[in-house]
Amino acid sequence: MNEYLKHDEWCIIEEGFNPENHRSSESIFSLGNGNMGHRAMFEEQYSGETLQGTYIAGVYYPDKTRVGWWKNGYPEYFAKVLNAPNWIGIDVKVNGEMLDLAKCEVSEFVRTLNMKEGVLERSFVATLANGNKVKIEAKRFLSIVTSELGVIRYSVTALNFEGKICFNSYIDADVKNEDSNYDEKFWDILNTKSVTGEAYITARTKKLDFHVCMNMRYSVLKNGLDIATKADIVEKDKYVANTVELDVKQGEEISFYKYVGVLSSLNHSKTELSCNAAKVSSAAFEKGYDALLEEHVTAWAEKWSISDIVIEGDVAAQQAIRFNIFQLNQTYTGEDERLNIGPKGFTGEKYGGSTYWDTEAYCVPFYLSTSRPEVTRNLLIYRHKQLQKAIENAEKLGFNSGAALYPMVTMNGEECHNEWEITFEEIHRNGAIAFAIYNYIRHTDDKNYLAEYGLDVLVGISRFWSQRITYSAAKNKYVMLGVTGPNEYENNVNNNWYTNTIACWCMSYTQDAFKYVKESNPTRYKEIIKNLNFDFDTETARWSDIVENMHFPTDEETGVFMQQDGFMDKEQLMASDLDPQSRPINQSWSWDRILRSCFIKQADVLQGVYLFEENYDIETIKKNYNFYEPRTLHESSLSPCIHSILASKIGDIDSAYDMYLRTSRLDLDDYNREAHEGLHITSMAGTWMSIVEGFGGMRVVNGQISLKPLIPGQWKSYSFKVLFRGNLLNIYVSADEVGVINEEGEDVSIFIKDDEYKIEKSSSLVIEN
Ligand code: BGC
Repeated sequence: MNEYLKHDEWCIIEEGFNPENHRSSESIFSLGNGNMGHRAMFEEQYSGETLQGTYIAGVYYPDKTRVGWWKNGYPEYFAKVLNAPNWIGIDVKVNGEMLDLAKCEVSEFVRTLNMKEGVLERSFVATLANGNKVKIEAKRFLSIVTSELGVIRYSVTALNFEGKICFNSYIDADVKNEDSNYDEKFWDILNTKSVTGEAYITARTKKLDFHVCMNMRYSVLKNGLDIATKADIVEKDKYVANTVELDVKQGEEISFYKYVGVLSSLNHSKTELSCNAAKVSSAAFEKGYDALLEEHVTAWAEKWSISDIVIEGDVAAQQAIRFNIFQLNQTYTGEDERLNIGPKGFTGEKYGGSTYWDTEAYCVPFYLSTSRPEVTRNLLIYRHKQLQKAIENAEKLGFNSGAALYPMVTMNGEECHNEWEITFEEIHRNGAIAFAIYNYIRHTDDKNYLAEYGLDVLVGISRFWSQRITYSAAKNKYVMLGVTGPNEYENNVNNNWYTNTIACWCMSYTQDAFKYVKESNPTRYKEIIKNLNFDFDTETARWSDIVENMHFPTDEETGVFMQQDGFMDKEQLMASDLDPQSRPINQSWSWDRILRSCFIKQADVLQGVYLFEENYDIETIKKNYNFYEPRTLHESSLSPCIHSILASKIGDIDSAYDMYLRTSRLDLDDYNREAHEGLHITSMAGTWMSIVEGFGGMRVVNGQISLKPLIPGQWKSYSFKVLFRGNLLNIYVSADEVGVINEEGEDVSIFIKDDEYKIEKSSSLVIEN
């Protein structure tokens, strides 16, 4: 743990500059707008420890795989979101001396991420070696109104001198990825231009030829008034800049405003890219900082008006949930079906910015309830577009006839993980992708999605399971051999209970989906059967046979679902038996020892119990929770949230709250000492789930919202909103009351603790808790 941030309801605040925390702060204070993002590195030069990271959604590099001994089935490359040209840079010289926080005396340092407004601010006083003292106030944002625009205001006040202040505002394309496999640089320069008041760089990525152009304009104000400046032009190989020097008297403030258009060939033709980038920065320059900021803040207010969760009586918890919601909204806005959500979003390089099962298993519930349905639909269509590649992926592994295996890690549908022994066999991801279709329809009622896109994907996935599952004469049951479940501390196990469960569920649900499409849209049904070359009777008969005769490892004595065959052969130790110094075990134990132990990295059986809870009575849920929780180390950020939801489900509110805190402040308090690598964006959706599905007990049951609210003793109240089939419901829970306001939409009926209530439009309901 490293608790250095101040608690505040709407802001993340770092007071005092401690270089040791800087890399973590660069992650925590990151900005994004769905289209691009960057870490909270400084505008001015900084020679201390830093990870400069600027990322543009969808712009990646297929970095050739590096392994000792090549085996068939290895992915050709590990994709990585590219560290793109750095456009925030503004070097500052004070009477000829470079401002560098690693080389001067810093006081009154405050860094603030204003989550309400989507703005990063920083202020401090620096005393340089030449004795000159300046006050710096920097503020920047990535517009969520114009997603190709970034804006900075950087002000310098001369506190104890008169002389010269020099700003060197630049774009630097000489950047590299820290995690590059061969230490290569991934950008070539196409063209650069720098004239007074404007400069740009157009660069292209190696191999895939993505083009990006960054164009900057700026203005300079002295004591609040625009002043004309003469600039020195800098144009180097991969770098453009304008340098302006100004006279300043003691007490005077000079503000540098930088407007940068950041465009990529994902959204513009390559020939028009530089021209369009100039248009974006010029339009911003004309509009001006205040107007741009105002529209940005208004747009954030709109996002918060639906997605905010308010917690009374616990500032740390309030700040944490807002931080999680803010980061999710910064990472994915759902406007572009080609984009997805990397586990680290725009905050770091780990996981390469690629798509994992995290999206479907964790992020989908958040976007379903807090955004219009198209946002989640776009996430589903992303996978639909990659179906052909999933079929090819399965073919490479020896499957056929349209069986689809979605990748564990991907950018464009091709598998591109870099940890063969673990991720290769995590075929359970196929199940999460199918479940997301079900979840989307359950929430939105957009059943047409099945005929349009869903069924194609479901059939590919079910065909895969049907071929991957084999018959065991010894058991007289179907079995699934050689898999890795969600718990990555076991590899190549037989009959992972979770994978077997979700596979069977997929094959049943695909049949339900067929039935629905046949009845509702017979023409499309025939078309699908024909297009997929689907032998209905034979294929579905095998699916049903598997579902009826699948082996699910279960402990005979206790009835607990066994994570895999042979789990009880392991020495049964508890997490509490471990020396705290040895945790996380993945940093102190050999992989061999981890694999032999019974310790569980993340929810596995419990992931299945969570997804399919309606199939189990409360005793079964308790039994499994009580068995697995003490053996689980939660060394994946995706784990505590699922345990928290189940703890709420079985009424263990104290454990639910402990686990909630762990998930929600994971990065803010740096529980695992890894915030410097980037934030755990996808598990942040799990934090939201811990409140809404956990404490709030929200489920969609038979097309209606159902609530079973609990409240942690530490809280006075909490409230959250849910967009559900045209209604916006505002749900409030305290120890004494449950309230629901039907803010938007028609009359609605919902269940609270199994009783049905009708709430007319624009009215509310309050009942005793
Ligand atoms: C987890 C996976 C997850 C990945 C990316 C790993 O540590 O075990 O389940 O998909 O991180 O978040």
